[in-house]
Amino acid sequence: MLETCPRCSARLGKPLSSGRQVCSACGWSTVVIERSPPPPPTGLPLLLSQIGRLIKRFFQYLGMQLQLLWRSLTARSQQQQPRRNLWESLVTKLKHLEEKIPTGDPSKEWLTPEEAFRLLGGNPDNPNSKVSTLDGKRRIGLSAFRRLVNTAEYADFGFQYSSDRHLKNLPYLRRLPRQP
Ligand SMILES: [Zn+2]
Repeated sequence: MLETCPRCSARLGKPLSSGRQVCSACGWSTVVIERSPPPPPTGLPLLLSQIGRLIKRFFQYLGMQLQLLWRSLTARSQQQQPRRNLWESLVTKLKHLEEKIPTGDPSKEWLTPEEAFRLLGGNPDNPNSKVSTLDGKRRIGLSAFRRLVNTAEYADFGFQYSSDRHLKNLPYLRRLPRQP
């Protein structure tokens, strides 16, 4: 509300009921502007704001989906870890079993030192029983025979030695093909 007239600076009275102020000296009057809320956006601005809301919602949705996916993945990997270990241990056990099963050819069968000792004519139950090398130069008892860990030494008795199988606690001696 103005105090004085902007045209003649005369003092203005109270506005009329319509809201207009009229100067009684010069006849100036205010133009009353109807106050109305800003018109809703139309055309391009409406389209842009709609697209903006769509993009925002899309990313909200995407973020939520990624969060869910991540959560399910971490939960699943925690569940599968022990299961995979179970499979692996089962495979190891079966492999172990497979190596224990003798192959068809008896001459290719892996033997324990006791079995090999017996095959050489020794008696594992008799501590005085001895077996000799193929060339007959060396005679040893079971305990000494068992302590051999050398491929060449076992070869002297006609056996192939597998340190790998020995480490795995499997029968580790095998008859070498007989020399002609
Ligand atoms: Zn005036």
